[in-house]
Amino acid sequence: NPSVFSAIEMAPRDPILGITEAFNADTNPAKINLGVGVYYDDNGKVPLLSCVQKAENILIEQPAPRTYLPIEGLAAYDKAVQELVFGADSAVVQERRAITVQALGGTGALKLGADFLKRFSPSSDVYISDPSWENHRALFESAGFKVNNYTYYDAATHGVNFEGMLASLKAMPQGAVVVLHACCHNPTGADLTQQQWDQVIDAVVTRGLIPFLDMAYQGFGAGIAEDGAVVRRFAATGVPLLVSNSFSKSFSLYGERVGALSVVAASADEAARLLSQLKRVVRTNYSNPPVHGGKVVATVLATPELRQLWEDELAAMRVRIKETRDTFVKKLKEKAPQHDFEFVRQQVGMFSYSGLTKEQVAKLREQSIYAVDTGRICVAALNSRNLDTVVDAIAKVL
Ligand code: PLP
Repeated sequence: NPSVFSAIEMAPRDPILGITEAFNADTNPAKINLGVGVYYDDNGKVPLLSCVQKAENILIEQPAPRTYLPIEGLAAYDKAVQELVFGADSAVVQERRAITVQALGGTGALKLGADFLKRFSPSSDVYISDPSWENHRALFESAGFKVNNYTYYDAATHGVNFEGMLASLKAMPQGAVVVLHACCHNPTGADLTQQQWDQVIDAVVTRGLIPFLDMAYQGFGAGIAEDGAVVRRFAATGVPLLVSNSFSKSFSLYGERVGALSVVAASADEAARLLSQLKRVVRTNYSNPPVHGGKVVATVLATPELRQLWEDELAAMRVRIKETRDTFVKKLKEKAPQHDFEFVRQQVGMFSYSGLTKEQVAKLREQSIYAVDTGRICVAALNSRNLDTVVDAIAKVL
């Protein structure tokens, strides 16, 4: 007899994981994977930050029973995150208008926010950038929303089609949820200037849109404060605001699943009501978050020496990416002078929309170099040993 499961079809493969599978199956020892979404150091390794190791040593010296955390997470973590995201002296923190709950990475924070919005703004549509992080659409659709694109990337200039973006924002219905990348846009690497953010904030406020800022790469662009500036500027407008942030990249803590969702309310009273409802979303999903990653991040952020160490280690990752962009562009100029890759230097964060076509990406794969079909490469996967190989291979397929 057929069971309830017998008619279930195979789900489509995740495009990025598909690259990893193909990469893993490649027997060429010189293979290079530029399709990844994590930061590698110059040795091609995912770093274990010293600030994390030191915090873990502190935690081991003070063994603690593994009780449940509160539904909203570790209080010290939520407080430290809120101060990092909004600033300890900001009006929203001082007036207790912001609430922050620990979440399972940035993805978990987005899902909490999506489920929360579906309960309290069920008829809103959601708008994501074209293109966006590949999970945004699926995540908001799975929460029950209709998801639309807003104009963002301009392939001709390798930058933002800002006029198009503004026109999209101005055409959105009041109450629409607009998902904005706070910094280091994934996948394109193309960010807005501060002047362009002014206009975006203005459009969001005048049209009565609900901004949902996704900050997965704070510190990978221009710096911790610089990358977070747009969040603070949105918070200062007084509009309802959601912010998801992640420490997967900035602490190199991918597998510990450490992130947070913050929501800004109009008053302390409203914030308390929001928190009580957000806790129900958490409670009915996974009850409460895990302990370890939150404790590590809270310890680092609240211990001055460790925090300084973190800022230095994060700066080193940021600088290495920048230098890699420079070297990559310089070497490509030597090998393929008729092609202009100067835009790669302007892009920020871990990724670059390299402008390589699907066909060129396929040809790179014949040389055991793996990139995403869209031409997205992870700049942090380049290093002093593989850069020449990659540049030679790209020059060959152009
Ligand atoms: N948002 C964006 C834009 C991302 O690029 C990512 C991760 O790649 C996430 C959210 C999810 O972060 P996490 O791995 O912490 O769930």
